[in-house]
Amino acid sequence: MTQSKPNETLSGERCPICNEGQIELLRTDFDLASPDEPTIVIPGIWVDRCNHCNEQFFPSETSRYIEDSLRRDRA
Ligand SMILES: [Zn+2]
Repeated sequence: MTQSKPNETLSGERCPICNEGQIELLRTDFDLASPDEPTIVIPGIWVDRCNHCNEQFFPSETSRYIEDSLRRDRA
């Protein structure tokens, strides 16, 4: 199962970090590394990324999806 495309994103807006790039919505794999547990990879999540400085922003739906996935993983 992968995340469906979020409705609320920053896509097309100017990046608030570098103030030069434009935000693009794209699909990537999220990995969460922690010192005591194996790395958790959540494939196919949507992120907003600046095409200039590469800063990433998580749409709220993506944050929720990640939290849900982690909860399922640990259950
Ligand atoms: Zn930027």
